[in-house]
Amino acid sequence: MESLRFKVVDEAFNRKADPVEIPSERPEKYYGKYVFNRQKMFEYLPADTYQALCSAIDNKQPLQREVADSVAEGMKRWALDNGARHYTHWFQPLTETTAEKHDSFIEHDGKGGVIECFNGKLLVQQEPDASSFPNGGIRNTFEARGYSAWDISSPAFIIGNTLCIPTIFISYTGESLDYKTPLLRALNSVDKAATAVAKMFDPDVEHVRTYLGWEQEYFLVDESLYSARPDLMLTGRTLMGHESAKNQQLEDHYFGAIPSRVEAFMLDLEIECHKLGIPAKTRHNEVAPNQFELAPVFEEANLANDHNQLIMSVMAEVARRHHFRVLLHEKPFAGINGSGKHNNWSLGTDKGTLLFAPGRSHTDNLRFLTFTVNVMAAVHRHNALLKASIMSATNAHRLGANEAPPAIISIFMGSQIAGILERIEHSTNAELTNLAARKELELNLSQIPEIMRDNTDRNRTSPFAFTGNRFEFRAVGSSANCGAAMIALNAAVAEQLILFKKAVDERMASGLSQNDAILEEIHILIKSSKAIHFDGNGYSDEWKEEAARRGLDCETSVPLIFDAYQRKSSVDMFRTTGVFSEVELAARNEVKWEMYTKKVQIEARVLGDLAINHVIPVATQYQSILLDNVLKMRQVFGIDRTDLTASVTDSIEKLTQHITVIREEVAAMVDDRRVANRLESEREKALAYHDRVVPHMDTIRYHIDKLELMVDNEMWPLPKYRELLFIR
Ligand code: ADP
Ligand code: MG
Repeated sequence: MESLRFKVVDEAFNRKADPVEIPSERPEKYYGKYVFNRQKMFEYLPADTYQALCSAIDNKQPLQREVADSVAEGMKRWALDNGARHYTHWFQPLTETTAEKHDSFIEHDGKGGVIECFNGKLLVQQEPDASSFPNGGIRNTFEARGYSAWDISSPAFIIGNTLCIPTIFISYTGESLDYKTPLLRALNSVDKAATAVAKMFDPDVEHVRTYLGWEQEYFLVDESLYSARPDLMLTGRTLMGHESAKNQQLEDHYFGAIPSRVEAFMLDLEIECHKLGIPAKTRHNEVAPNQFELAPVFEEANLANDHNQLIMSVMAEVARRHHFRVLLHEKPFAGINGSGKHNNWSLGTDKGTLLFAPGRSHTDNLRFLTFTVNVMAAVHRHNALLKASIMSATNAHRLGANEAPPAIISIFMGSQIAGILERIEHSTNAELTNLAARKELELNLSQIPEIMRDNTDRNRTSPFAFTGNRFEFRAVGSSANCGAAMIALNAAVAEQLILFKKAVDERMASGLSQNDAILEEIHILIKSSKAIHFDGNGYSDEWKEEAARRGLDCETSVPLIFDAYQRKSSVDMFRTTGVFSEVELAARNEVKWEMYTKKVQIEARVLGDLAINHVIPVATQYQSILLDNVLKMRQVFGIDRTDLTASVTDSIEKLTQHITVIREEVAAMVDDRRVANRLESEREKALAYHDRVVPHMDTIRYHIDKLELMVDNEMWPLPKYRELLFIR
């Protein structure tokens, strides 16, 4: 029988680009076709309903019941006109995916037939039987009630033939069970806190909005090859596989010509995105072979995050049409770059000012410094929490592991800004007053292009970088819900801005001018948060030591990193900003530990199975061939001619050692899993998996990868790295 591996390699190799149905119209014509946006609302809703809905959205107010009924009626008509047959509340539970339960529109018509109905009640609130979603013990199963409620700030959309209504997901007692609820709370909180500070520079400011532009990295693998790798199918990453002789060392993939099959996929995906109102804009090859990136134009954070959640599922579907599987795992392949999801984040006023953008005037620059320095202070105080917000079993392979950036949060500012910060830091109060009094704050900040160059070209090693008019949180994992990072960051910044405003007010109350008060406060913050600022090489070993000296959080154990959510500083911060209660924090950590354990558990099982049932049988078969060979050599040349048989017996010995270690390690891993599974506490269990189970997996992999190099290529059962990474 021809081996599965060679069959799938052959299939993958002969695949051609699939045709893409390109709409005859320009993108502006079909953009948002499947979104119930303001244009559709205007078309399908009575004038007063349209007004009431827009006003509720703009002023973040709840919708009146009669209005909801009228909206539902119009939304249904639009949905039916566009081929919808079902509707669903679409929400983001803590499983890191989206959830939906579809209902069709049909109801009895009382005459033996059906009619298609939808009303305000169904639109606004539902009670999905959601007992099986993770909730960290908040909802007991017998009381399996969770509510989903429409988030009117994110428009409904149609996928396939289902009308999807973005909703929050909360427990019967009001605790959040999703990412959207706390994200909305955090955005609200930073809006209030930042508006109060922004008013010091422009009294007309009424709101501050948070913007998010994510960059989604991913790998593509041919579907035939994928189907022959149980580890990819079940865990999203390769649990074994020796490095390919060629991988990314020539750097010939990054920004290189996009392969034709991939380009067809990207085009198809882009068209789908545009129909769904997702402003996909940039596409290119990434550093590793078969790694790519997609980035949209940035949007308000809540919508941007919905769009990211949506795109992850759309990508998977479009990839299938092109006989690819998309890998969103942070580290699908050892030894080459992993995938992240840079979160470009900024704050902007309703008057159109980006608060992290340097300006030309004295006021602009003071505003810029105020907001930037407050971000530094917030990230400094909560560096451990921010790390926890991006950490997961999967992202752990990308951060903190051997060939990856360290799991330490620092901020890159670029030499120009760094120079200014240093100057302020070393100024006396008198000098600051002098600086404040001068008509032009001589900050030399008008050369924005230079700042951009300075920041965006260099230093890709920083987990959190200033890039001209925004910050780029780069530690976020490719498969993550950006919500987690955005919740922690925006809440931390909100808290810091509240503290800042209070401190400035106090200084002003004691007689200082506003400018003096602000500069003195900035001065203090620069000094106290200095440790977070690092412009050097974040991947170097020296940085790990330096960061520890500076008192930054250097913990690398994922279960321990999650503890940061329950530190007093975090609990206080989340309470002040109204984002999480202590109960919610505790419950969510339970879920995080549980998810960690489950992911490692699944990987450990898959690895054990592959080792025992795929690899060892082949290795022993090969071992027998070699043994046969030695026996025959001895018959022909005599037992004394060890000079002729030495290399073979040496191979047999090595092979046997690897096989033995693998067997022993798999058995030990199973034992350690049993011990861990008996632990009651989710935290202890996760720790046991991290400390006891993961090391076995590393050892097993090491020996399997050695076997891969020794065993006859014709016999090796699983597609190799070179096949997974270079066939496209
Ligand atoms: P790079 O790879 O150089 O970081 P990309 O063009 O891939 O740049 O991605 C930049 C992302 O940042 C895009 O999504 C873009 O829309 C977003 N972005 C640009 N300006 C802002 C801003 N002020 N706030 C938030 N996101 C922004
Ligand atoms: Mg970027």
